[in-house]
Amino acid sequence: MNIIFLGPPGAGKGTQAQRLIARLGIPQLSTGDVLRKAVAAGTELGKQAKALMEAGKLVPDEVVNGIVDGAIDGPAFANGFLLDGYPRTVPQAEALDAMLKKRGKRIDHVIDLEVPTEVIVDRISGRRTCPKCSAGYHVTSQPPKVADTCDKCGTSPLSVRADDAPDRVRQRMVEYSSKTALLTGYYKAQGVVRTIDGVGSMEEIEQRISKAIGR
Ligand code: AMP
Repeated sequence: MNIIFLGPPGAGKGTQAQRLIARLGIPQLSTGDVLRKAVAAGTELGKQAKALMEAGKLVPDEVVNGIVDGAIDGPAFANGFLLDGYPRTVPQAEALDAMLKKRGKRIDHVIDLEVPTEVIVDRISGRRTCPKCSAGYHVTSQPPKVADTCDKCGTSPLSVRADDAPDRVRQRMVEYSSKTALLTGYYKAQGVVRTIDGVGSMEEIEQRISKAIGR
């Protein structure tokens, strides 16, 4: 099963994606995680992306298309995958369709998480990420077992993403409403959009997703 997560920054895509991949046993590809790792490692890709990411702007389509095109041939992706944070523009969605078609694959479900702006602001301000393994936490709704320490790899302290600062979040919302929101229409035309109410407990939202995809 091939799945895309859509929704504004802070909608809970990362959290729900982690739960879904554990349940379905498929890999997740987050272009944001790949780019953050590249920035941290100081690679050529990281150098290209750093300033744009820190400003809350989108990285050029060719760059992220290249990341996905390189990844989906991996053997782990043979039985399905989940894309988180990609595609984010209509040209990216068209590029993805072409990549999948070439490989005889298609997108089965586009999960569109709907969350009001005030809930998003609250979620983003409490968000923490492990700088080493990218595991995500929230200070109140999903705290680590030991304060400020990653459950998975023990790294401490957890970090606040540079692009989670309020002015950057506003810029990311602008990018979302001007470019990414158009994707819902693109995928509705393919009949694969599953609109999910993204407000509620993590378990409630997980159940809604499960019902919508029949798994
Ligand atoms: P995310 O973790 O998905 O919120 O992504 C963090 C940042 O990485 C975004 O604000 C963009 O600067 C960049 N990025 C991630 N995925 C994409 C994409 N599909 N297209 C363009 N830029 C992206």
